[in-house]
Amino acid sequence: TSEPIRLEDRIRDIPDFPQKGVLFKDITPMLQDGPSFHAALDRLAAHYAGAGIQTVVGVESRGFILGAPLAYLLNCGFVPVRKFGKLPSQTVSVEYALEYGTNVVEVHKDAIQPGERVLIVDDLLATGGTVSAAMELVEKLGGHIAGIAFLVELTFLKGREQLKGHDVFALIKY
Ligand code: 5GP
Repeated sequence: TSEPIRLEDRIRDIPDFPQKGVLFKDITPMLQDGPSFHAALDRLAAHYAGAGIQTVVGVESRGFILGAPLAYLLNCGFVPVRKFGKLPSQTVSVEYALEYGTNVVEVHKDAIQPGERVLIVDDLLATGGTVSAAMELVEKLGGHIAGIAFLVELTFLKGREQLKGHDVFALIKY
């Protein structure tokens, strides 16, 4: 019998990326290994089986890599949250603070119906700023945030505290 796949063995630490002093968690070794990528998605899908998720919202751009196949496995639709200026139809937008400056993310106005049960997905939870912006977009459209999923959570940054009252799930915690 084979051992269960250890996803954390395929997350690589990159020192000083994207800037000095940051230890970046690189998920690309996990993505490029077929059995690991498959296991990660199966585990995420298993967690939400029976949760009545109607739409998966993925945050550009690594949230797309996980969100689209997760939507497929949950048999529901996929909605992209994109950086400013990328979506072609009418949008709602939210500005949020970065370490230096601000960023704007958008979603199509007609992408989510009021009351729809939404699962928000991104690759990694750090401070929670990015996913909070995605949550604001979903709430602006009247969607119900049924869950927030990550591959990796950096628990020492306490991003989870910003997501109080929501069901937050991460496959790997550091
Ligand atoms: P937050 O907004 O929670 O501080 O940062 C999370 C966002 O930045 C996510 O969209 C994630 O893709 C990206 N991010 C921040 N740090 C890392 C990291 O160490 N590894 C990866 N893969 N993404 C990161």
